[in-house]
Amino acid sequence: MTGPLAPRTMPLHPPQCPVPTLRDTIRQRLADETGRLTKEAPYTVALASPSPYRTAMSSLGLQRIYRAIMESHGLACERAFLPDQDHRDDIPRTYESLRPLASFPVVAVSVAYELELAGLVSLLDASRIPVHRDKRSETDPIIVAGGPLTFSNAEPLAAMVDAIVLGEAETVVIDVLRTLESTTDRHRTAQLEALGKIPHVFVPALHTTLPPLAVVDNALLPAWAPIRTPHTEFANMFLIEAERGCSRGCAYCVMRRSTNGGMRLVAKEKLLGLVPDDARKVGLVGAAVSDHPEIVAIVSALADRGVDVGLSSLRPDRMTDPFVEALRRAGTRSLTTAMDGTSERMRQRLERRTQAKHLIKAAELARQHGMDRLKLYVMVGVPGETHEDIDECIAFASELSRLLPVALGIAPFCAKRNTPLHGEPYAGIDVVEDRLDRLRRGLRGRVDVRATSARWAWVEWVLAQGGTAEGQAVIDAVRAGGTFAAYKRAFAARPPSSDRPVTTP
Ligand code: SF4
Repeated sequence: MTGPLAPRTMPLHPPQCPVPTLRDTIRQRLADETGRLTKEAPYTVALASPSPYRTAMSSLGLQRIYRAIMESHGLACERAFLPDQDHRDDIPRTYESLRPLASFPVVAVSVAYELELAGLVSLLDASRIPVHRDKRSETDPIIVAGGPLTFSNAEPLAAMVDAIVLGEAETVVIDVLRTLESTTDRHRTAQLEALGKIPHVFVPALHTTLPPLAVVDNALLPAWAPIRTPHTEFANMFLIEAERGCSRGCAYCVMRRSTNGGMRLVAKEKLLGLVPDDARKVGLVGAAVSDHPEIVAIVSALADRGVDVGLSSLRPDRMTDPFVEALRRAGTRSLTTAMDGTSERMRQRLERRTQAKHLIKAAELARQHGMDRLKLYVMVGVPGETHEDIDECIAFASELSRLLPVALGIAPFCAKRNTPLHGEPYAGIDVVEDRLDRLRRGLRGRVDVRATSARWAWVEWVLAQGGTAEGQAVIDAVRAGGTFAAYKRAFAARPPSSDRPVTTP
């Protein structure tokens, strides 16, 4: 029997299609990559992701660090990823030489957000590297973490890693690797002491307070991804940064203007000059790409070359006729933007500039230019939200759906550190589920509603507000099966870090 009624015990891969081995999967992916840098160097480290290849290779940040290491004299790195589900029992190996992570002197790992901490635990466990940093011996690699998570709350990482690079890491990571290379003959403790002297590096064994975030020189912008592959969400897309940071001040966002000096622009000519001639798809990346003053000209120029363009962020108040026309010419069929709060009142609470009139205009422009649908992201459970706000969202999304098909992508609100809403409680799993249910019922048959889990959002909130104790709890939870119940038990079993508010889910 095939199809949806097939018995659940049916093997995922029928006997005539055996699951490829990890080595075969790696070989195939390498064969399909374009732009990989090859180099042998006296000091080679592992660059790892706590997510599988498909997600990790869509990360411009990871690819930026890869390029920074490979372009540094005497240094090289080999990539490793959390193995796909089919290979979770295998020892993770680097793609370039199939070496296990434990055989490298250093494993540098990029962590994007709170729920990736579980992937880091799994990756280290599967690699037979002690997950608790204080259990590592002289023969174990030094684990260095960085990545987007460090912009909000790096503290839970302190349970697992030996050093953390805070903020923009492309130059600091080279300082870290050179320091470790020059101290290979010393004991681990001496190496960590040396790392502890580097600005923007937090060494949990030595420090108690986090240093400030690193900010790179603007001359190093933009980040761009050397490797293109068909095996990611953005298949074969060339990823390049159009700007870094944001000049706005949304109250919930870690990328608001107070983080890393506001918005830093990449000039149109510089950006266009870096796009390879054979790139047929280009992803323009940044916290607020549509705020770039030359964005319409950039998208138009790429459309003229016959390139499809994707933007990582589109603000509805920036939508104009020429902009949407350029996006349509550049292959955009679905206009994706953010509604943020469920009502005008909630958007004001979040200090958004977006108003209903901007969203209506965006929908009208998308329709006029023949787009298939409008996709809107919205948060539920923002402090102060009531049923009236949810009902306003239902009425407004219904109104928009009369202009063109609408899809709502809903995420429960999680307060983050380094934002004005830090410390705000989670609305509660029951409350969030009740509001999601109200939205689904109110929009049934009119708007496609997709929501992320209220339960996992609570786990994310605990980790966003927590510290080392919560990081220890992730280790316990993963080892207890990684279910929601396991996380709940693990958090309950440890006294919360001092500034995490205590709430029940
Ligand atoms: S949500 Fe977007 S517009 Fe608002 S501060 Fe963050 S990056 Fe800027």
